[in-house]
Amino acid sequence: MPTPIKSLSFAAIYELCEQLGQPKYRADQLIQWLFVKQASSYDEMTNLPKAFREALAKDYPLIPAKLIDKQISNDGTRKYCFELADGARVESVGIPVFKEGSDGDLRSLTVCFSTQVGCPMACAFCATGTEGLTRDLSSGEMVDQVAFIQDDFNARVSHVVSMGQGEPFLNYDATIEALDLLNSKKGFGIGARHITVSTCGIIPGIERLAEDPHQYTLAVSLHSAEQVIRDMLMPRCSAQTLPQLKQALQFYQEKTGRRVSFEYLMINGVNDTDAALESLIEFSRGIMCHVNLIPLNDVDHSAFKPSSKDMITHWKNVLTRVGIETTIRNSRGSDIDGACGQLKNKLLS
Ligand code: SAH
Repeated sequence: MPTPIKSLSFAAIYELCEQLGQPKYRADQLIQWLFVKQASSYDEMTNLPKAFREALAKDYPLIPAKLIDKQISNDGTRKYCFELADGARVESVGIPVFKEGSDGDLRSLTVCFSTQVGCPMACAFCATGTEGLTRDLSSGEMVDQVAFIQDDFNARVSHVVSMGQGEPFLNYDATIEALDLLNSKKGFGIGARHITVSTCGIIPGIERLAEDPHQYTLAVSLHSAEQVIRDMLMPRCSAQTLPQLKQALQFYQEKTGRRVSFEYLMINGVNDTDAALESLIEFSRGIMCHVNLIPLNDVDHSAFKPSSKDMITHWKNVLTRVGIETTIRNSRGSDIDGACGQLKNKLLS
């Protein structure tokens, strides 16, 4: 059975090249062609020996991801749905920030990419979770999302975040391989500080990231600092309790000296009570952090409603007063279901 080359990890591509009797630099060249230059066939790879290319083409077909849907929001955000070599579908979002007063010049371009097809975490508020997990993405399939969007905007991607579909720390190795290529000067040259890994709080992943030399930014989808409420909202996280999570974050901080971001969805009457606010303040004590308050985005068939604007502002004021740096994240692309938690492969057609 032929294996699509883009479904292999970079580590597997190095191994394959070795098996085919090629020196390591050939694997580097191949990865460059596949994921940085986005070659659409082996014929383009003119600096690779012909016999090597033929051997690859025979057993490892090059099947680029196919764009099957693209929607553009009123605010310029673009949502893409890609079909991969095996027919699996993933979504990604490109979020431009325009220079003030300019005619479409970009100040930054953020790509929100997926790390899995579907997601096993089944968070109660998230559309992706209703589908369950189909499979992990390969590192190359992650990089391809970024490369495609860079091309589509015809502008450099300045920031990437793993806030699309999936849980990156359940696909740790592939995610880090992808980030390393996005970060590398020979890849996309995106600064480590502009690369954010967002997790629902998988502790072994946090501990591994603490030891990673690259110092990517860590964001944790906290959503509640009260155990009972968090277990209800994020049932598959319940084995990893809040005290354990806090300990892991303190370990991360000791190792890296870096600040952690907390994502906190504001859900009316669920996690926006006075007690919830007190718990968040208590949880944050002893962790250098930044809190992002996110008004819940609409998800079909969900009983949850966003907190009021006044409540979100109240939270921001109280958190700021006790010394916790806090921002309210205004969601981009919600009119095209491109905002956080809305990625569910809902096509227009
Ligand atoms: N599994 C990772 C990354 C994917 S989710 C994680 O949990 O961080 C990306 C972000 O979208 C998370 O913070 C997630 O909690 C948030 N999100 C999910 N559903 C949402 C919704 N309905 N409205 C707003 N944000 C949502």
